[in-house]
Amino acid sequence: MRKAFVAGNWKMHGSKASIMTLVSDLNSQIAQVGDVDVAICPPAIYIDFVTRALASDKIAIGAQNMAVEPEQGAFTGEQSAAMLKDFGCNYVVLGHSERRAIYGETDTEVASKVAVALASNVTPILCVGETLEEREGGVMEQVITTQLDAVISKVGIDAFTKIVIAYEPVWAIGTGKTASPAQAQEVHAFIRTKLAGLNADVAEKVIIQYGGSVKPDNAVELFGQPDIDGGLIGGASLNAEDFIAICKAAG
Ligand code: PEP
Repeated sequence: MRKAFVAGNWKMHGSKASIMTLVSDLNSQIAQVGDVDVAICPPAIYIDFVTRALASDKIAIGAQNMAVEPEQGAFTGEQSAAMLKDFGCNYVVLGHSERRAIYGETDTEVASKVAVALASNVTPILCVGETLEEREGGVMEQVITTQLDAVISKVGIDAFTKIVIAYEPVWAIGTGKTASPAQAQEVHAFIRTKLAGLNADVAEKVIIQYGGSVKPDNAVELFGQPDIDGGLIGGASLNAEDFIAICKAAG
């Protein structure tokens, strides 16, 4: 039985004042959430601020990105996996579609980052997903296969017990267009079946989150699908009531 996992990706949002309000609201509401793993991923500069403000160890901390370089050195503007771990990050979002599309991250680079995160005991939340053009062009499965294969060939299938996969159809991120529960389940089952072809035990254990305009009013149905094990939440994670309602839906 897989334990549901909900993570909030705050992206580049917030200020000290707004984040303090959000964290204190989360502190007062997190007890309502049952047997669900929960994480929040603030902008890097706020990670320590958030960690100090959190009153519950029920909420883990994640980062939204990290350097591909495994060791510290002359890499201006970067943070290493070891530095994230040093500040208590247990998760890091890797391969988010915004990083792929805006910053040109390739499958190879994402795979290398996954390997570096694993070496520092930071759990990667590996984002995969197709654009609308790719879905309509009939190459959705091919795109997701290529994204996954880059990581599998770098770290091996067994490493997926320590990797969370987030299926995020690019056309559903921040657009208000959610994949229907059936559409999402179809892709989640495709991913799990693909992994099962390499190792059935790993495929059974791997957490596959759905991400893309998850809100309190669609979360129950999405998370009710057999292969959807929680969500990666963008916009709705900036509102404590909405995020807690989504976490509760995963339970
Ligand atoms: C995301 O950024 O990973 C995401 C899913 O965003 P949203 O929930 O806003 O669509």
